[in-house]
Amino acid sequence: MTTGICRPEEIRDWQREVDVIVVGLGAAGAAAALEASATGAETLVLECASGGGGTSAMSGGTIYLGGGTALQKACGFEDSTQAMFDYLMASVGDALNEEKVRLYCEGSCDHYDWLVEQGVPFNPVFYPDSGDAPTSDGLVWSGSEQSYPYCEIAAPAPRGHVPACEGLSGSLLMQKLCAAVDASPAEVATDHRCVELVQEPDGSVVGVIATKFGERRAIRARRGIVITTGGFILDDRMLDQHMPFVKGVHLRVAANGDDGSGIRLGMAAGASTLHMDKASISLPVTEPWGLKRGILVNAQGQRFVNEDAYYGDLGEAALVHNDGHAWLIVDDVIFEQPEYPPREVSAVGETPIELERGLGLPEGSLESTLALYNRHAEDKRDPVFHKAEQYVQPIVTPPFGAFDCNVESSLYGAFTLGGLETDVDGRILDPEGNVIPGLHGAGRATAGLSTGGYASGLSLGDGTFFGRRAGRTAATRKPG
Ligand SMILES: Cc1cc2nc3c(=O)[nH]c(=O)nc-3n(C[C@H](O)[C@H](O)[C@H](O)COP(=O)(O)OP(=O)(O)OC[C@H]3O[C@@H](n4cnc5c(N)ncnc54)[C@H](O)[C@@H]3O)c2cc1C
Repeated sequence: MTTGICRPEEIRDWQREVDVIVVGLGAAGAAAALEASATGAETLVLECASGGGGTSAMSGGTIYLGGGTALQKACGFEDSTQAMFDYLMASVGDALNEEKVRLYCEGSCDHYDWLVEQGVPFNPVFYPDSGDAPTSDGLVWSGSEQSYPYCEIAAPAPRGHVPACEGLSGSLLMQKLCAAVDASPAEVATDHRCVELVQEPDGSVVGVIATKFGERRAIRARRGIVITTGGFILDDRMLDQHMPFVKGVHLRVAANGDDGSGIRLGMAAGASTLHMDKASISLPVTEPWGLKRGILVNAQGQRFVNEDAYYGDLGEAALVHNDGHAWLIVDDVIFEQPEYPPREVSAVGETPIELERGLGLPEGSLESTLALYNRHAEDKRDPVFHKAEQYVQPIVTPPFGAFDCNVESSLYGAFTLGGLETDVDGRILDPEGNVIPGLHGAGRATAGLSTGGYASGLSLGDGTFFGRRAGRTAATRKPG
């Protein structure tokens, strides 16, 4: 499989000519195609699989929206654009594109309404007990809004909008978005893998080469091409180059398309990339939330995070900053099996010292960590990591146990956050910051809103939000 560039003079016949080509039919591609075709532009979606959906269809389906959406209001929550903006600016990375975050927050309520218009259903019911509702309830906490320090920076509000289905809702989201694309004037060509971009010597991208069962087809785009091919979690070479630590994660859940091909296509056309070393890394060990009363310790027997943080923050803290060595320590009162996935108990002990020995931790380390934690927990305080009072209780009732949170033997989930650099309208940029004429992108083929920290729902959220903008920009570009 090649992913490169071809010159127009190498093409004898264009098999097809349309206004806009969208490459990849996940959530971002569906949003781009819907918006492009709604302007009246002749739109063709190329999808390498035999149907649309991508990783979006395998996902939890949560979409991070706020600022007072109709769903938040129906569930009785107040939120503001400013609170959402302040939370995201504080929590989802260091090198944020402030303009994109601002636009996303300002457009969030309208974007929710747009999703509903496309047929995506949301139940106006709030699920309070975990970030992944096992019910069809529509609104959940999906970030660290209630945890320190964010609860002191911005008024917390639940912003995880979950399509109405029990279990993973991504399938319902994509069923509805693909149905909307089918009902739109956009055309979908499945089993078409885009392998090359056609680029003029002046840099403008004017078409693609796609293969269908080995046969090459040249398709010209009069106005623009939108790359929405997903991330690169399945490409070991790209992981080796950018974030080898993620290769240790057992569960790289993704559709086959998440092999970085769209990112490499863009790079071959001269695109810049951003945040290629960033991933969402989840360690879902504190669901149900009663387990937040335990403490997470590293290979030195030390705590390293407030355990009530979003499980993406736990995963990042454990894998990126503690080499993927961690255990959740509980006592007999706190013990319960995590909902999903079930976790192995690494060791059990009648005393903290016995547990510490069972885990092979340095002598006295866990014992002193628990002693310090329990000393303050008597007063419902956690002066070290500021865990919320409701999750602070002494861990004193034997037997003591340790859930395995080591990357080599337990479940972490990961997907990539970096990709092609785009402007706020989805135009792909070169390393000088210049627009590559005709080339657009959205979703995980591009660098998203998050540049490190994460909240569930931001990927489908920014993919669909900026996918719509990219589709519109491509469709309204002057024909080449
Ligand atoms: C288990 C799990 C749960 C998740 N839950 C959530 C969640 O609740 N909320 C959230 O926001 N995010 C979630 N994510 C992350 C989210 O699913 C992805 O980041 C998001 O779906 C990416 O969307 P996309 O449209 O960019 O790409 P995709 O949905 O992967 O779509 C890309 C499409 O492009 C096609 N394609 C790829 N290359 C080519 C090519 N060369 N030519 C033609 N077609 C091509 C692929 O086949 C695919 O259909 C989750 C991820 C996982 C793994």
